[in-house]
Amino acid sequence: MEKHDALKIDIKSLTLQELQEAFRAEGLPAFRSKQVYQWLHRGAVSFDDMSNISKELRSSLNKKYYISVASIEKKRVSMYDNTVKYLFRLHDGQYVESVLMEYHHGYSICISTQAGCKMGCTFCATGQGGWFRDLTPSEMLAQIQAAQQDSGHRVSNIVLMGMGEPLDNYENVLRFLELVSSDEGMNIGARHISLSTCGLVDKIYDLADKKLQVTLSVSLHAPNDQIRSRTMPVNRKWNVEALLKACRYYAETTHRRISFEYAMIRGVNDTDACAQELAQKLKGMLCHVNLIPVNDVTGAHYHKSTRERLQRFSHILEEKGIPVTVRRTLGADIEASCGQLRGKHQKEAGQTIEK
Ligand code: SAH
Ligand code: SF4
Repeated sequence: MEKHDALKIDIKSLTLQELQEAFRAEGLPAFRSKQVYQWLHRGAVSFDDMSNISKELRSSLNKKYYISVASIEKKRVSMYDNTVKYLFRLHDGQYVESVLMEYHHGYSICISTQAGCKMGCTFCATGQGGWFRDLTPSEMLAQIQAAQQDSGHRVSNIVLMGMGEPLDNYENVLRFLELVSSDEGMNIGARHISLSTCGLVDKIYDLADKKLQVTLSVSLHAPNDQIRSRTMPVNRKWNVEALLKACRYYAETTHRRISFEYAMIRGVNDTDACAQELAQKLKGMLCHVNLIPVNDVTGAHYHKSTRERLQRFSHILEEKGIPVTVRRTLGADIEASCGQLRGKHQKEAGQTIEK
């Protein structure tokens, strides 16, 4: 793939209004900017795709702007369900993953927001690999567009739950939300978007005040600081109490139910006492708990809790009035967990990624 000229502007990260202003400054009519915007958001990968734009304008756009694309480097289709996992290559050779899932209500895509992650959670393949760079809003869009084009399916729901911590790339994620929900763009509204975070408390307050109606997923994974600080370094900055206070604020401000992710690790966070402590701390909050058997991907020797443990844990929460589901794992055979395919690809290719 062509490397971007560093001086060129990332056109797909501009809002329609910004594009209109740029075109106006060049003496171009407003309807042209709308046409170009629509092409970009329908997934055009080159200015030459824009058949209703003159050759002359296409060539001048090409001198000033670039269109970011995500190229399929690898793809895996699950034999159990129709889950497809993509490994995308970005213009500078960074790899990110996305997972396309079929649900009864349509197609949902899980996309990455960063190449790597700074947060260092001990159970997470991405976290253990470190951080490389933030993704631009256009690179988040490009993952959806490439998956739609490859599969022939239109995506109706988006989860920001792939590689990276979305709230650590906050401005770009906010801009992505604005672009993807725009009428002339993909028109996928905030109610159809979930954002998953390990708990950057300052940004949770900020997001709540924006009243965007995005579903907040919080990777809690432990009921107290003693356990959480061991597996999630972010807890040393914002502890469980501070995090849950921010979650209550988010739920009360947006009237949206918080979804708590809880990866069950045998002997670490899956005891009856953990379930009771969790239930007590979530009491009265508009929320839901997703229990997920942990995937041992980091060599930390974490083991999945047994089925009986998951059921017992879920039963305790239910008894105390906390809504809970044991999450169905999609694409269990294709390493659909965050960061797994990229890690494997690097090993197979014998490459080391330089930071
Ligand atoms: N950084 C964000 C979103 C990306 S991680 C966050 O942490 O929420 C996506 C989800 O995968 C998170 O809930 C994370 O805790 C979970 N996860 C990461 N590694 C996992 C593993 N080995 N087993 C189960 N869940 C895992
Ligand atoms: Fe980053 Fe999320 Fe992985 Fe933690 S779980 S290291 S926050 S991607």
